[in-house]
Amino acid sequence: MRYLFALLAFFVVLPAQAALRVVATVPDLAAIAQEVGKDKVKVSALVLSSQDPHFVDARPNLVLDVSAADLLLVVGLELEVGWLPTLVSGARNPKVQTGGAGFLDCSQFVGLMDVPTEKVDRSMGDVHPGGNPHYLYDPRNAIAVAWGIAGKMGALDPSNATSYQNNAKDFIGRLQSSIKGWEQKLSAIRGTQVITYHKSWTYLANWLGFAVPINIEPKPGIPPSPSHIVQVIGTVSSAGVKLVLQEEFYQANTAELVASKSGAKLVRLSGGTAFEKNETYIQHFDTAVTKIAAALGG
Ligand SMILES: [Zn+2]
Repeated sequence: MRYLFALLAFFVVLPAQAALRVVATVPDLAAIAQEVGKDKVKVSALVLSSQDPHFVDARPNLVLDVSAADLLLVVGLELEVGWLPTLVSGARNPKVQTGGAGFLDCSQFVGLMDVPTEKVDRSMGDVHPGGNPHYLYDPRNAIAVAWGIAGKMGALDPSNATSYQNNAKDFIGRLQSSIKGWEQKLSAIRGTQVITYHKSWTYLANWLGFAVPINIEPKPGIPPSPSHIVQVIGTVSSAGVKLVLQEEFYQANTAELVASKSGAKLVRLSGGTAFEKNETYIQHFDTAVTKIAAALGG
């Protein structure tokens, strides 16, 4: 009888280990976390790829996600400042508060662009006061972010630390060979003049060697005035801009106007990996690169 109890106890206290619950603010981070954590984690994203990550409705179901999280991955640089603090304070989950063991600001892993040299006041409308937060638009930055996430997952769940390291290594290997392929595909169009709606393609332009003489938004987060649009059309014509890049979640009309007045091609891309549809980060870039190459004849 005692053995029977011991045997039962053995089965009762040894359920499959609960997966680490990971909540990422944006779907690109969720997709990278999924690659690193695989079956050891349960990942969700607070923002859809069809949403502007600067402006998100802090709905109650998102509070529930944050309250159950073991690890919260954020882009940082105040990308999420308009909505995440409301979710985190509502969630009452000390693990994922800023500075908590389960909080990871991924901006620490990358070399930042557009860091203001003077203090920028967000009340004046610029939504990039800490530097440009769209660093995952350069797939090379996902390498360091994947390592950083693997380190954090290993610290929170030491028994699977080796798995996280191995998964990260495998993902990075696949990503690096994809990056080589994308660079080859677009090598003929390095130096192309490109403009963008929001100043979110800076890292992608830097990666692919595009020159960006102006943005349709005069400042990140500020819609263009008619006089600024006139200036943009002038620059597009005089600089010989070939391509207008814009996220699909922005209204297309201004970018369409600029493209039609200048002969540049408008390419609208997803603002991130469609993690909610099981798209991977690599598949997302494959699509983006294919669209850019088709528009520019690369
Ligand atoms: Zn932005």
